[in-house]
Amino acid sequence: MSSSRASLLVIYTGGTLGMVDSPQGLIPGHDFEARLRDALSTLPPARRRALPDFQMLETPRPIDSSAATPDDWRDLAGLVADHYLAHDGVVILHGTDTLAWTASSLAYQLQGIDRPVILTGAMAPLERADSDALGNIEAAMRFATDARLQEVALCFSGRLLRGARSRKWQTRHADAFVSPNYPSLGEFVDDDAVLFPRRGLERHQRGAPRFELPDVAGLAEGSVPRLVLWPGIAAWQLEAWLLDDRVRGALLEVWGGGNLPEDEAIMGVLARASGEGKLLAAISQCPHGSVSIGAYAAGRGLVDAGVLSGDDMTPEAAVTKLVHLLAQPLDDAERRRRFLTPLVGERTAPALED
Ligand code: ASP
Repeated sequence: MSSSRASLLVIYTGGTLGMVDSPQGLIPGHDFEARLRDALSTLPPARRRALPDFQMLETPRPIDSSAATPDDWRDLAGLVADHYLAHDGVVILHGTDTLAWTASSLAYQLQGIDRPVILTGAMAPLERADSDALGNIEAAMRFATDARLQEVALCFSGRLLRGARSRKWQTRHADAFVSPNYPSLGEFVDDDAVLFPRRGLERHQRGAPRFELPDVAGLAEGSVPRLVLWPGIAAWQLEAWLLDDRVRGALLEVWGGGNLPEDEAIMGVLARASGEGKLLAAISQCPHGSVSIGAYAAGRGLVDAGVLSGDDMTPEAAVTKLVHLLAQPLDDAERRRRFLTPLVGERTAPALED
């Protein structure tokens, strides 16, 4: 239940919601706390009273989130881990461009979090007429006081989505995020934050806080590429991407339910990369549904080449999971096992065998 006595931590990282005009176009603005408190004071009294108290932190260098890297994900998770115990929930204000990537990475790093961590952003700066910023922040703050929610979620345009299932889907509309393969966790309706029953993380996935905050500095920049295949792709192109020593793993976006050309040269490159210990996974280019690798002969080669099924994961959840697993001191078998296991509700749990 929402409580006006709850205390939140609000972290401002940059993004359009806090941007200001400059001769070069919009740039991240500073001193967001004063600007936000001003804006919140314009809300009708009943809505103001329903908001929790909050403390605010601003990252040292607010950014346009298109510049975010795995280091930023690591720093943000560290900030939450350092401060969350003093608060009932955490709200993270972030650019929309890579919001779903950060949400996915935080979900893996903050496994077992026992209170809400809600990310939000906006399509228009806070001070602009008709901006969606204040509405999104208000809804995120209200969800962040609900103790039943114990996971990383993304709140946008009145909908609450699982962080590791979310994707940015629109470049301009306010309703910019979707969760293609998992239903919404809740909705902000009639000024109330309503959680839908039985959609939150299962108890075994929540468990107790068991954060994993791996040092991504051990991975070279760009060490986990995302490769969307296209008709006519040639083995030499895959070779250029995958056989570079700096590459440690990759996500392949293949066709339909898990297919790719039966081309021996392509399969040979994938098998060589796998043989070198690179962690390869595949999802579909279709935004909805899952892959079932090996169902068609045209996908059989992926199995033979040791490519892991990403099932119904989003590209954001799959790449950040590969980065997360590769940054930890795990052996190959354990990495593969964890990739195939739903850690934070990012992929559908396999059906139990009879
Ligand atoms: N380029 C901005 C960002 O991601 C876009 C936004 O926030 O809507 O930081």
